Amino acid sequence: MANWGALERELEQLKKEGRYRPITVWETGSDTWMNIGGRRVLQMSSNNYLGLTNHPDLKKAAIEAIEQYGVGSGSVRTITGTLHIHDQLEQELAAFKETEAALVFQSGFTTNQGVMTILGADDVVISDELNHASIIDGIRLTKAQRRIYAHRDMDQLEAVLRECGSFAKRVVVTDGVFSMDGDIAPLPAIVELAEKYDAIVFVDDAHASGVLGRNGKGSTDHFGLKGRVHIQVGTLSKAVGAVGGYAAGDQVLKDFLIQKARPFLFSTSAPPAVAATCLAAIRVLRRSESLIGQLWSNATYFRTKVRALGFNTGGSETPIVPVIVGDPAKTMLFSDLLLQQGVFAQGIVFPTVAMDKGRVRFIVTANHTREDLDFAIDALELVGNKIGLLT
Ligand code: PMP
Repeated sequence: MANWGALERELEQLKKEGRYRPITVWETGSDTWMNIGGRRVLQMSSNNYLGLTNHPDLKKAAIEAIEQYGVGSGSVRTITGTLHIHDQLEQELAAFKETEAALVFQSGFTTNQGVMTILGADDVVISDELNHASIIDGIRLTKAQRRIYAHRDMDQLEAVLRECGSFAKRVVVTDGVFSMDGDIAPLPAIVELAEKYDAIVFVDDAHASGVLGRNGKGSTDHFGLKGRVHIQVGTLSKAVGAVGGYAAGDQVLKDFLIQKARPFLFSTSAPPAVAATCLAAIRVLRRSESLIGQLWSNATYFRTKVRALGFNTGGSETPIVPVIVGDPAKTMLFSDLLLQQGVFAQGIVFPTVAMDKGRVRFIVTANHTREDLDFAIDALELVGNKIGLLT
């Protein structure tokens, strides 16, 4: 056996600091109630915002695609891996996002990395400090200069843009909905600044797709900014219910990414059943405004009640509702005690969030009933009192 001493010491340290992430093994599929250790538990941490993982249209599409195409695509997209169903998905995604084109990747994570390919050594990328890890890692892969602005701070963004006039390209990148805080990027202000300083706007709508805008078209639609946001990334892994990601924008962007984006070029394409599932999901979104209405009504109900109890939910304004605890060990204890009460809500600690900003993150979905949400709120009150968060 290799000498793993250094790794073992690091793991011990994580455990000591209460930052060791357990893997929870679920015995049933993604739903509002799931089984763990033979117990039924209320799920409050899934990104299955609209409950589409179990939608009959999506299941049927997946089964039919397996019958028609088999289970795998056989290679990367540029060899045998572009089947009719992949092409159709991209066309419908572009129509849904009201852009010229869309390009599908294997995940939202690799989409962000792939899109960063547009940056060269003469460019600068300007990023919100709370952007997702996949954006941060994507930036690390480029030769571009990087600048970080304080979370949603438009004065700082303008100051940075003012200093960056000499770069060949300026790209401003932001999450549309911030995954750990559930707040929304000030996209209209970002777009105005980008227009003033000739910058490209790149928004990661992982948590806005299927959530914000008409029929869940995302943050660009939500703010009425059609044509003014140049790159819209979305995932197919959250509200859409399956797995994958896409970049929507001009045809030239798609053409360039096909030639240059390494995660696209060198990794096998999605199984046809996944592409078919996503296509069915987009069709459900197009006709299901009420599902999104239900999601927002549930989110507002839950957030209002949690705040009324006296919890700190930070800047949450979407179905992502963090309960900020602070200390990592106390955060994980809070999450463990909630599970004992039958509620699963993930504790999130450093380095995903700042050391003193540990939180238990609740995600409300359209399929939660009012009884479900009240059950979670009762558990929160009980556990919050027990560990002194509600004094
Ligand atoms: N961007 C954001 C903001 C996310 O929250 C996530 C998912 N954690 C991703 C990108 C990555 O998406 P995927 O899970 O599809 O790889």
